[in-house]
Amino acid sequence: MNKQRLVVATGNAHKLREIAEIFTDFEVVSQKQMGFDEDVDETGTTFLENALIKARAASNALGCIALADDSGLCVEALDGKPGVYSARYCGRHGDDKANRDLLLQNLENVEERSAYFVSAVALVFPDGKEFTAEGKTYGEILKEEVGEGGFGYDCIFQNVDLNKSFGEATSEEKNSVSHRFRALQALLNVWKEAEIKGNL
Ligand code: IMP
Repeated sequence: MNKQRLVVATGNAHKLREIAEIFTDFEVVSQKQMGFDEDVDETGTTFLENALIKARAASNALGCIALADDSGLCVEALDGKPGVYSARYCGRHGDDKANRDLLLQNLENVEERSAYFVSAVALVFPDGKEFTAEGKTYGEILKEEVGEGGFGYDCIFQNVDLNKSFGEATSEEKNSVSHRFRALQALLNVWKEAEIKGNL
């Protein structure tokens, strides 16, 4: 049977792979593979606003169902920073190493290191219907990098469910507890419910 195609509004290959590993019932393709390669300005002040901005742009441009994730790391001792600025915490977009170094520097001598990852996901249909959901995963910021897997802040995030850093976790382990997994599960439930109620 042909799988339903789902276009993901991201240029981040790590996120795309994680989403494809979680949404195995779909043919997951990137917006770039479909011919849309625009960098949309993430002007929202919340994860959800930014996820909607990205998904709407891809759905409008391609005329298809589009999924977007906006995610980041929130550190309690820093009043939730880097938050929506996680990808550009150091001042440059997507410099993961510099972002981690700055975070470790800003937490020097800080003992209370609780943190959580958040993922907001948005699914936008060509007729304008929209579904959203959010997921979180909790842990602590380590004092140095541990493990070499994953991306972004993974190797300095000790996850409470796995009792290891996301950098040490296999992709299956991370996907079983991640903020993105939890957000996507919640989104699938909202989507299924809408189908059952005949709202689609
Ligand atoms: P976005 O592309 O604007 O959603 O930026 C998300 C940023 O948050 C990434 O560049 C990473 O720095 C960070 N981030 C989000 N999810 C994860 C994750 O699963 N592991 C590590 N870092 C993440």
